[in-house]
Amino acid sequence: MVTTTLKTTKSEEIFAAAQKLMPGGVSSPVRAFKSVGGQPIVFESVRGAYIWDVDGNQYIDYVGTWGPAICGHAHPEVIEALHKALEKGTSFGAPCALENVLAEMVIDAVPSIEMVRFVNSGTEACMAVLRLMRAFTGRDKVIKFEGCYHGHADMFLVKAGSGVATLGLPDSPGVPKSATSSTLTAPFNDLEAVKALFAENPDQISGVILEPVVGNAGFIPPDAGFLEGLRVLTQENGALLVFDEVMTGFRIAFGGAQEKFGITPDLTTLGKIIGGGLPVGAYGGRRDIMSMVAPAGPMYQAGTLSGNPLAMTAGIKTLELLQKPGTYEYLEKITKKLADGLLQIARETGHAACGGNISGMFGLFFTGGPVHNYEDAKKSDLSKFSRFHRGMLERGVYLAPSQFEAGFTSLAHSDEDIDRTLAAAREVMASL
Ligand SMILES: *Cc1c(COP(=O)(O)O)cnc(C)c1O
Repeated sequence: MVTTTLKTTKSEEIFAAAQKLMPGGVSSPVRAFKSVGGQPIVFESVRGAYIWDVDGNQYIDYVGTWGPAICGHAHPEVIEALHKALEKGTSFGAPCALENVLAEMVIDAVPSIEMVRFVNSGTEACMAVLRLMRAFTGRDKVIKFEGCYHGHADMFLVKAGSGVATLGLPDSPGVPKSATSSTLTAPFNDLEAVKALFAENPDQISGVILEPVVGNAGFIPPDAGFLEGLRVLTQENGALLVFDEVMTGFRIAFGGAQEKFGITPDLTTLGKIIGGGLPVGAYGGRRDIMSMVAPAGPMYQAGTLSGNPLAMTAGIKTLELLQKPGTYEYLEKITKKLADGLLQIARETGHAACGGNISGMFGLFFTGGPVHNYEDAKKSDLSKFSRFHRGMLERGVYLAPSQFEAGFTSLAHSDEDIDRTLAAAREVMASL
């Protein structure tokens, strides 16, 4: 493979114009490549495992629009189903039979979900689930983990780190202290810290929310016994256990991390894959808890575009494709080959690294590790990651532009794509 410097003239022009029109030139911050330096590439189209930029460069994609593209981008069957649905209109704002179909699929698939409410994003799902936790228990406090992301609602924007975090000081200007004063934090994989929070706040904690496999601080799996321990602790304290499976739902396994690890939470949030690339989120769980949601019960939550027929259609078709035999075995096989390959290349080229995969979700940290939580993840060599990211981009491999994001494969990634990716990684790591 020849080392080329990417030609990205059009991307640069478009991004320069965008910066005058939109804050940072983007509609969501990580896209701006700030943490890896350089310019973001501007996409023209996506298909299968590939993306093309406006300058005509092709890349193997490991972002998958941040998770939804698990069947590969623009899967022909999803596109065809969308064409048909489009003919009937773009939004009803009224009940539609497609909601029943997707709801049944979600309820059948996800062990904790007996009833579900559709919303438009993961952020919305997490906001609503927190309100529901409080409504059901009559308690205001919530425990989250450092480095876990539950969308951008005020209550979840709590600084990830040490005592400041535990006090719930706002992470972002504009978030009032009152919004985060009930948010308690603990390091991921630290049961003792959770135990201590319950002891310090008796009968005040509505529940514990977490990414059962962390993807928003890089890829960090739960230690043996961690999820089990949280299940016991929440039950002992009359609190709810909530899995934020916006990323892991239908990715770690068809029934999410809760199926994979055999731990059933009380409530679950979903997003990303269940929208098949259109904007969808959902929250669901035990029937007695979900019965509190309006109009069945008094907890208010609503949405003009919720249950949108196009979004339901893309979600249904995506889940159908995932139900075919062998899909998760295939994701595990190619993703393990990629994750193991990257680690081996790092070893052979003399870089401290750790990482791994579960199903089609993977990570690589430039630190010897082990990484059990966000503090550990922060020991990564970020400047090395930036150079690695740039080198891979120049060789036609699109990785998430941050050390603190998991990577994703899809059913469209071939063995050959993985081989090409590893060959590129070998060149880049040898030059770091
Ligand atoms: C992406 C994500 C969210 C937020 O979802 P949006 O659709 O971006 O609002 C929440 N929780 C987790 C675990 C996520 O990965």
